[in-house]
Amino acid sequence: MAILAFMKIRELMNHLEEIAPLSYQESYDNAGLIVGDPDKGIKSALISLDCTEAVVEEAVTNGIDIIISHHPIVFKGLKKFNGKNYVERVVIKAIKNDIALYAIHTNLDHISTGVSKKICDKLNLINTKVLDPKGGLLKKMVVFVPFTHKEAVKDALFAAGAGNIGNYSECSFELDGRGGFKANEDADPFVGDKNQRHTEDEVRLEVIYQGNKERKLIATLLKVHPYEEVAYDIYSLSNNYSEVGAGMIGELENPMQENEFLQLLKKNMKADVIRHTELLGKPIKKVAVCGGAGSFLLNQAIAAGADIFISADFKYHEFFDAEGKIIIADIGHFESEQFTQELLLEIIQKKFPNFALRLTVQNTNPIKYLS
Ligand SMILES: [Zn+2]
Repeated sequence: MAILAFMKIRELMNHLEEIAPLSYQESYDNAGLIVGDPDKGIKSALISLDCTEAVVEEAVTNGIDIIISHHPIVFKGLKKFNGKNYVERVVIKAIKNDIALYAIHTNLDHISTGVSKKICDKLNLINTKVLDPKGGLLKKMVVFVPFTHKEAVKDALFAAGAGNIGNYSECSFELDGRGGFKANEDADPFVGDKNQRHTEDEVRLEVIYQGNKERKLIATLLKVHPYEEVAYDIYSLSNNYSEVGAGMIGELENPMQENEFLQLLKKNMKADVIRHTELLGKPIKKVAVCGGAGSFLLNQAIAAGADIFISADFKYHEFFDAEGKIIIADIGHFESEQFTQELLLEIIQKKFPNFALRLTVQNTNPIKYLS
C-alpha cells in the first residue's frame, strides 16, 4: 500500500499560491482559503470546478479534508447562516463536517500555465501567449553594491526570483559609480572609518521582479549585502507582464477549414452545443481562447489577428460585435473550464505525489441541454 502524505493546509496553499498568487486575482474575486484553519493537518483533497452541496456530500462520504474548487462558493458577504440558499448550506455543511474550502479562481485564469492554457493544450495550439497581459505587477529594485560583493548580490537576487523577462533569466543592468557616506559613533561600517566621509566604488545594480516576490527579495538582499545600512530603491512599473493576464492566443500547426475546426472544438472540449457567429470562409490558423466568461476580450482577440475566439457566456448582442472580423464560438462556461480540474490535479500532484487527490464525480454544470 502506498504511503499517503499528511500536510498542513498552509503547505498546500503556499504551493498553489506560489504558482497562482492571490494578487493576480480580479478585485471582485474571493480566491483563497474560504473555510478552514490553515494550520490544520490534511490527508486528502477533492477537486471540483464548483463547490456545490453534492460536492461537499461527496467529501463527507469519502472522509476528505479539503475541497479545492475553481469557483469560490462565497463571493460577497454572508450576513445570516440559516441555510436558505445553497451558498449558506454549503458553508454550514463544510463547517459542521470540518471540511476546508479553498478556491483558486481568476488567479488561476491569469497565469500563462492556467485555465486558458489548458484549453490551448486540448486544441493542440502552439506558440501560445497571454492575450491581454496585466500591468502593474512588475517592479524594479535598484541596489548600490560595493564592487567586491557585486556577483554575490546578483546571484542571491536571481536565486530569489529576480531578473526574469520572458524566455530570459538573470537579466540585470549595472552602472559603475561611487557611493559616499559618513558613519557615526554607534555605527559598525563595513568599509571606511567612523566620523569620516568615505567614498566607495559601487555598482548601481538594477533587476526586475514580480511584486509578490518582494518580501523574499528584500530579505535576501539584506542578508547578502555587506553594508550595515543597505541603500536600495523600489520602483513600481506600469509595464505589462507578458506571463500574466486574461485569455490566451495560439496557432494551429496546420490551418484547418472552419467546419473541420468547429468539429474538433466540439469533440475535444466535450461540448454538446457550440453557439457561433457566421463563418467567414477562410481557414483557421490563429485561435484566441478564454475559459469562462470572456466576451470582454473580444477586441483584444480581433486586434491580435485571431480567426476565431473561443469562450463562453456571450450575450445575444455581443455576438454582433464579431462584425465579420472574427468567429465567436461560445462553447459554454462549464465546458470551457472543465479541464481545470485536471490542471489542479497535475499542479498538486507534481509537488505532492503521495497526497491523496480525487476529482469530483459530480457534474456541477447547472445548465442542461435538451436535444
Ligand atoms: Zn468560471
